[in-house]
Amino acid sequence: MVGGDWRARAICPPHAALFGSERAEDYKAATAICLRCPVREACLVAAMDEEDGTGLVRRAGVRGALTPTQRHALHRADQRAAARARLAEEKAGLSDVSGPPSPAVERPDLATAWRRSVRQTRHGGHLVWTGPLDKSRRPALRHGGQRHPVLTVAFRTLHGREPHGTVRTTCGVYRCMAHLADAVMRAEDPSLVGASS
Ligand code: SF4
Ligand SMILES: [Zn+2]
Repeated sequence: MVGGDWRARAICPPHAALFGSERAEDYKAATAICLRCPVREACLVAAMDEEDGTGLVRRAGVRGALTPTQRHALHRADQRAAARARLAEEKAGLSDVSGPPSPAVERPDLATAWRRSVRQTRHGGHLVWTGPLDKSRRPALRHGGQRHPVLTVAFRTLHGREPHGTVRTTCGVYRCMAHLADAVMRAEDPSLVGASS
């Protein structure tokens, strides 16, 4: 498990046996505990990051209120979303087919480029896209000779981590990039239904 202050607030340590069990009835009881846990989102993000790329058999126990099967399904959804985004970019002839940009190198400048293309609204703390649009009138963030998925960059910049699955706006304000949720956040709070931007 990765480090982080959130672990000190986890409420599962007294139930270690339950969380170490792979029985269906124990999954249910553990999930009920997770649903009351104040650090569920951070826990689920950590689990998804730790288990990234591993198959179903390598995932164990309930974490962040999701069973191994549910986390594996979320991981597969992540992969499909990433593949779709990459295909769309390649189709538009905008992607470097030799591989994605290195986040470590690209991130600071990319975040700055994104910030320059959004404007904060006077009320509500929305960050509305004011940058260029593509032919389909969708926000188009170009940086370092490539086009980048705007909501992914926005999410990474604002939340300090990679999103899982599709990123959607949650506030309903047209082209707002301040209020976003990924699949992990929607799993945590189903009221964050949102709409594609
Ligand atoms: S969400 Fe569940 S597994 Fe994660 S820290 Fe909380 S109780 Fe433990
Ligand atoms: Zn908003």
